[in-house]
Amino acid sequence: MTGVAAGPADTGPAVAPPAVGPGPGEADWAAAVAAVRGLPADARVLLICHVNPDGDALGSMLGFGLGLRQLGVRRLQATFPGPPEVPEPISGLPGMDLLVPEVDADPAPELVVCFDAASESRLGGLVDRLETAGAALVLDHHASNTRFGGINLVDPRAAATSVLAEELLTRLGVTLDAAIAECLYVALTTDTGSFRFEATTPAVHELAARLLATGIRPGDISRRVFDTRPFGAVRLFGEVLCRARLEPAAAGGHGLVWTYATLDDLTRHDQRPYVLEALIDSVRCTAEADVSCVVKQVRPAEWAVSMRSKGAVDVSRVAVALGGGGHRLAAGFTGRGTVEDVVAGIRTELDKALIEA
Ligand code: AMP
Ligand code: MN
Ligand code: MN
Repeated sequence: MTGVAAGPADTGPAVAPPAVGPGPGEADWAAAVAAVRGLPADARVLLICHVNPDGDALGSMLGFGLGLRQLGVRRLQATFPGPPEVPEPISGLPGMDLLVPEVDADPAPELVVCFDAASESRLGGLVDRLETAGAALVLDHHASNTRFGGINLVDPRAAATSVLAEELLTRLGVTLDAAIAECLYVALTTDTGSFRFEATTPAVHELAARLLATGIRPGDISRRVFDTRPFGAVRLFGEVLCRARLEPAAAGGHGLVWTYATLDDLTRHDQRPYVLEALIDSVRCTAEADVSCVVKQVRPAEWAVSMRSKGAVDVSRVAVALGGGGHRLAAGFTGRGTVEDVVAGIRTELDKALIEA
């Protein structure tokens, strides 16, 4: 689980506020509320979050699902594309009983709701539900969101998709209970780096206060979600961090630090790929580099790339240029070829993505 949305608040040069569009208007909220309230009593609702779900994707989806259940929606499924495997740290979330494998997802529900996905490509084989469902509602906070739903609740200023999920639940008259709150709290803490990133506004803390008021235990949740990993993963991190490289001249002289992890590394330490999600947080600490990068092998010539910036570079531009997406200070893409091929592509795009201070 890694933070998204922005880098640490206390480092990096001052940068202009991001050029983002407005959030949802009243008409969008009204349409979303009507889409849920107008469902027939026996309606089938399918919730989908992005491939390789993180805390925000899964937490927003399950929290919203539990809210719909409170409203009496009974024929409810939650799913995501790819193997039906949830990273261990978020596998204990309330509402996991809503989850079904992609193959069992309703082919034509009355309503489909998508969470934390910037584009249709993040929905994998479930993308056809946007056509087959009676209505398609999108909740997201990526600036690069393509507004692929019939109704779009997209707010690039929101710290997490869970911010939008909570507002919609409130507008629907759902009462936050501890189970819903735990899901939304995990989502919020994941995407704000535990309230450290730039997007941590007063409203974010007010939301956290509403969630904590249900009685959830933030210490237990944080330890489970962020501060627990197998010993093999601790040793794997040591090895992968040892091979990190610092390139001070990269990114127009702002510096790049990067490392990689192979399938063989995972096998040697008997670890699942999800443990590598937290690696970027150790790499991005590097004082001498604005940009950090972890290149994670998923197949022999295919790599999941995580990038972070402290503010000098818009890494979402790099990611989009290389076929991915994300936020200004946290983005990713799928790389092909060797590690060197992937990093060479990043070096080239970095210089084009410098932010004018
Ligand atoms: P991560 O480094 O995996 O934590 O991802 C950081 C951000 O980049 C998240 O907001 C993701 O939505 C986005 N992202 C990561 N990988 C991809 C990808 N392959 N395609 C599009 N967006 C991505
Ligand atoms: Mn996400
Ligand atoms: Mn998110």
